[in-house]
Amino acid sequence: MCGIVAYIGKKDAYEIVVKGLKRLEYRGYDSAGVALLTDGNLNLYKKQGKVANLEEFTKDKDKSGRVGIGHTRWATHGEPNDVNAHPHMSNNGEIALIHNGIIENYDSIKRELLTKGYTFQSETDTEVLTILVEDIKKNTNGTYAESLRLALQQVVGAYAIVMISKENPRQLIAARKSSPLVVGIGKDGDFFCASDATPIVEYTKKVVYLDDEEIAVLDLDDGLKLYSIDDVQKTPYIQELEIKLESLEKGGYDHFMLKEIHEQPRSITDCFRGRLNAEEAWVSLGGIKEYEQKMIDAKRIIMIACGTSWHAALVGEYLFEDLARINVEVEYASEFRYRNPIINEDDIVIAISQSGETADTLAALELAKSKGATILGICNVVGSSISRITDAGSYTHAGPEIGVASTKAFTAQVTVLTLMALSLAKKKGSISDTKFRTMLSELEIIPQKVQEILDINDKIKTISAEYKDATNALYLGRGSSFPVALEGALKLKEISYIHAEGYPAAEMKHGPIALIDEEMPVFVIATQGPSYEKVVSNIQEVKARKGKLIAIVTEGDEQVKEIADHVIEIPEADEHLIPLLATIPFQLLSYHIAVMRNCNVDQPRNLAKSVTVE
Ligand code: GLU
Repeated sequence: MCGIVAYIGKKDAYEIVVKGLKRLEYRGYDSAGVALLTDGNLNLYKKQGKVANLEEFTKDKDKSGRVGIGHTRWATHGEPNDVNAHPHMSNNGEIALIHNGIIENYDSIKRELLTKGYTFQSETDTEVLTILVEDIKKNTNGTYAESLRLALQQVVGAYAIVMISKENPRQLIAARKSSPLVVGIGKDGDFFCASDATPIVEYTKKVVYLDDEEIAVLDLDDGLKLYSIDDVQKTPYIQELEIKLESLEKGGYDHFMLKEIHEQPRSITDCFRGRLNAEEAWVSLGGIKEYEQKMIDAKRIIMIACGTSWHAALVGEYLFEDLARINVEVEYASEFRYRNPIINEDDIVIAISQSGETADTLAALELAKSKGATILGICNVVGSSISRITDAGSYTHAGPEIGVASTKAFTAQVTVLTLMALSLAKKKGSISDTKFRTMLSELEIIPQKVQEILDINDKIKTISAEYKDATNALYLGRGSSFPVALEGALKLKEISYIHAEGYPAAEMKHGPIALIDEEMPVFVIATQGPSYEKVVSNIQEVKARKGKLIAIVTEGDEQVKEIADHVIEIPEADEHLIPLLATIPFQLLSYHIAVMRNCNVDQPRNLAKSVTVE
């Protein structure tokens, strides 16, 4: 949440910062702002709403300056308006600061500062931190970098911060704890800072990911210096970025979400590249290899996640239990950590998170680690916090996901979980050789089958048009299709603002059936498999109450076709692989409905990607 960008060097900062903010807009779009240092002046421009509003606002303003910081906000403290927008300035107008995270003890600090006569323009926690830095500087007469360091010692909470000062216009000061921050080392001695690498990649591939409680001073004369907040100097670990610039553009699609939906044949293939060989009958996830025996011996594996990743975990539960016969519990990260959970040293906790920065998941992992559990991660973003704190893990390799509603990251997570389940099953001997071979061959051709579903996009669009004005929707599935139903409902809610619920199909009669009337679309996954007949009965129950029925069925299905209002046929596949296919029509349905309702598909209201606040 919140995107941070900063630049210092020989180029015009405004262009770089604003372009970067657009790349980070998926992280929040309540407001946008920049601060530029030029000829001893600190120019501050901020505006409620999107970066485009800020650009409009700054059209006739002085945008010069080779030092700049910018912020796109997802409000936590104070409503989204111009005043609460970042950057925030100190009372003496000497410093400007941007922040991603929450200063939990801001209130007590603010009271103290008020007694000293400081004034506050905004309701944010961030402004409190800015003025705290000013106060410390006044009392200690040290540098601003030193004052920020001392301020951070007083702060409870999470932060990624970049600060500039009139006193030292050749310096950016950055710090992080729990919220991500990456420093780019430019080719001309210039520096970049950003919440993720996407604003940096077109200028340099050399980056340093800050660790918790680290402060970086980026000085045009002195280079990059790294300190802990206890003032111990550290050696920066410089990494090479692997992101391709094209992956950050829409590539001819109207929306990132549509592009990402269509990328799935490739992202799934990328996910199992080098990890699966059907012909030679092996599957291998290098990242977790040395933990596999431990996973097999574990009394239980706990999967923790939030949102879409939690749905992937539920699919994982079916796969691990059915194929590898390993006991799995799936938990919401936010609930898990506050429940005083019983965690033992022989427990294995797997965190699933697209960004690898999800604050709740990260905190839950830290808790599990402190109790001695082995912690593993499944993340998309290389170098992210979760991937760094875990003992081991597997990347999903889906490529950058910019659309706020997750699509390709979900299928990549499910793919990794399928590979893990198969690998564990094989090692444990809980799967027959024939079944193992068949599943590998089937998995290998899943990308083609996903493509076949994408090819019926027009048909799905036509169906979407019929339901675009619905106010409620029900999604039903059984077995591993139940989490797919949950995910389908979440996609619709997120981007079209239609209220939707996912249920296990058989649970419908215990409550939700009361909602069904001729206005209610019911989306059902009714593919061939062990519970097909049962689902058909649930479908009959819906039709008996005049609900509108849209069923996802296996190609060639005749029975459901007779009853349903619409059927969407998907290729036949092993029941364990159905989630990878059945989810695609739901993504497309949600997308088309949202577009027809004129909703902002890539940046739905109130949401943000990479939820770095708890
Ligand atoms: N707490 C700050 C604010 O509300 C930053 C929010 C965030 O990073 O999500 O302005």
